[in-house]
Amino acid sequence: MRTTGPDATERAGAALAEGLRPGDVVLVSGDLGAGKTTFVRGALRALGVTGPVTSPTFVVGHEYDGAAGPVSHLDLYRLAGMGDEDPGLLDPFFAPDAIAFVEWPEHAPGAWPDERVARRVRLEHAGGDERTVVVE
Ligand code: ADP
Ligand code: MG
Repeated sequence: MRTTGPDATERAGAALAEGLRPGDVVLVSGDLGAGKTTFVRGALRALGVTGPVTSPTFVVGHEYDGAAGPVSHLDLYRLAGMGDEDPGLLDPFFAPDAIAFVEWPEHAPGAWPDERVARRVRLEHAGGDERTVVVE
């Protein structure tokens, strides 16, 4: 689909969230500024997360209380690869009942169980305030 403006991308995130269950992992890919955090914000709102949803820039991720359980939001942009990191670093974000959204998932392949990946989302710039949003 194509969105014009951040509100439409938030609505796309909210729509995706409707179909999620505890334990699901959602991978969100795309360039800087493509709208990944905007998309996740809409999803988190739909899952009952209140208060600010900001980009986890100086930490790996944030954990929230959603209406039906824990919700995690990770941004792995600054993780070059898990080789030098504590292998358990990300585990708290992937508690069995948590729904987790991961920006820059390609920076830490294998840090979550593949079978938990429920959706793969790709956002791309399409000129101005236009973005393409593809969900697998
Ligand atoms: P990312 O997390 O991919 O780096 P952000 O969601 O943090 O991207 O930032 C996207 C920026 O682009 C925001 O400033 C947002 O307001 C702006 N923007 C403009 N049009 C759109 C759109 N259609 N969808 C999402 N963001 C948009
Ligand atoms: Mg972001």
